[in-house]
Amino acid sequence: MTAAVLRPGGPYGWAMLVERMRPFTSTIFAEMSALAMRTGAINLGQGFPDTDGPPSLLADAAANITGGLNQYPPGPGVPALRAAVAEHQHRFHGLDVDPDDVLVTTGATEAIAAAVLALCDPGDEVITFQPYYDSYAATVALAGAVLKAVPLRPPTFAFDPDELRAAFSSRTRIVLVNTPHNPTGAVFTAEQLTFIGELATEFGAVLVSDEVYEHMVFDGAAHMPMASLPGMAARTLTISSAGKTFSVTGWKVGWVHGPAELVAAVRAAKQYLTYVSGAPFQPAIAAALALPDSFYADLAAGLQRKRDLLTAGLRAAGFIVYPCAGTYFVVTDVAALGFVDGADFCWRLPELAGVAAVPVSVFCTDPALGRTLVRFAFCKRDEVLSEAVERLSGLGRAMAS
Ligand code: PMP
Ligand code: GLN
Repeated sequence: MTAAVLRPGGPYGWAMLVERMRPFTSTIFAEMSALAMRTGAINLGQGFPDTDGPPSLLADAAANITGGLNQYPPGPGVPALRAAVAEHQHRFHGLDVDPDDVLVTTGATEAIAAAVLALCDPGDEVITFQPYYDSYAATVALAGAVLKAVPLRPPTFAFDPDELRAAFSSRTRIVLVNTPHNPTGAVFTAEQLTFIGELATEFGAVLVSDEVYEHMVFDGAAHMPMASLPGMAARTLTISSAGKTFSVTGWKVGWVHGPAELVAAVRAAKQYLTYVSGAPFQPAIAAALALPDSFYADLAAGLQRKRDLLTAGLRAAGFIVYPCAGTYFVVTDVAALGFVDGADFCWRLPELAGVAAVPVSVFCTDPALGRTLVRFAFCKRDEVLSEAVERLSGLGRAMAS
């Protein structure tokens, strides 16, 4: 044992949390949701919808529970769901996926964790973009790997190609891409994805592509999977989740697909994380994936309307609001309201305006990058967003007085 582990401190006389996990003791989502609950604030912090998914999906899951689908499903996932994911990838993205190369996971979170744990030895490097979804840094730390986070800067949140190239080394194992991107709402362009893919190829890295917001792309644009770019399917693990697409974030059913040997590696790690989960949910999600195009179109159109509602309200309240091309998040700059620190702003916002949000700095390796940026979620009922906008409208005046 290292001196750090034996460090006195806990009730047992040694530190109670391994050193590499100490920066990750609690998530901003837990903290801000607890604050919203305590203060009665409207929670636009943690990204979860306040309406349920399609009625047929809920009914199917309930019937599966009462019908006895309650024991361990097969390790790689229920065959119907693996087939449905393959079919979905062909229907929406033109990808040819063999159901045998689909692995069902406990949410996208587990797929990402299993990929990193399977592919990285301690000291190996994972490149991603900052700000990043918070589990990325914690997962890389769990694996003992090293995170190299390339900045995405407002207003466009495009990366600097030279900075990206400089992040690569002979130890780069994974480039962890997320498009549409949480928290910025950016959607990577074909040129950007191609450039990332070329560098991954040059350095022999695997692309792990987190596409959980694949059906939340706005203004007539279409999602572009990393694996759809020429030559990229051979080195890409594509990850998605039912949580976002079907508004069932608490079910934690996700999946990953890619080349057989990569999926086999991910499966090796995954089977000792949770082994399996979600037996009654998996067949229900298989059926939901086959819902007509209108379901998917309505999802994107509804969220686009909500984006516009919240964006207009935030602008009227004095925020700088950056463009959001996908996901259900918008990023604002609170400097215009006289704040110098987004985290401080978020801790005070429930009291100031009865609304909760999350600071972008916590998603950054270099917190200075997102110092005055604050993320709001708009996956809420229209009346909830309208009430939030109403509450926020007084903020500029309150700050001025
Ligand atoms: N990746 C991103 C970018 C996310 O925003 C989320 C949302 N929680 C996840 C992964 C995790 O998805 P899941 O809840 O399916 O684990
Ligand atoms: N993905 C959601 C978000 O970014 C929720 C994540 C969580 O609660 N861990 O808000």
